[in-house]
Amino acid sequence: MNDGRLLCQSCNNPKRNLERVESKITGWPLNMCQDCIKQKFEPRWLIILAIRQFGRTPLTDEFIRKHRYVGEPIPAVDVL
Ligand SMILES: [Zn+2]
Repeated sequence: MNDGRLLCQSCNNPKRNLERVESKITGWPLNMCQDCIKQKFEPRWLIILAIRQFGRTPLTDEFIRKHRYVGEPIPAVDVL
């Protein structure tokens, strides 16, 4: 099954060309595909985790407002 492709940490799709990038929110290293990088996405789980750990910031608000992640809208209860 595994043909050597890795999963993009943002959209979770298997891709051949992942790029090592740093999260704009936390600085954590991430493997993301070109599509997600182009759209300035961050992983949905990372946004939630960052808010839980470090609190909301204008940056995290912007990511949520502009829906710059793959997946369902993040409910307010997830980031309390
Ligand atoms: Zn992706």
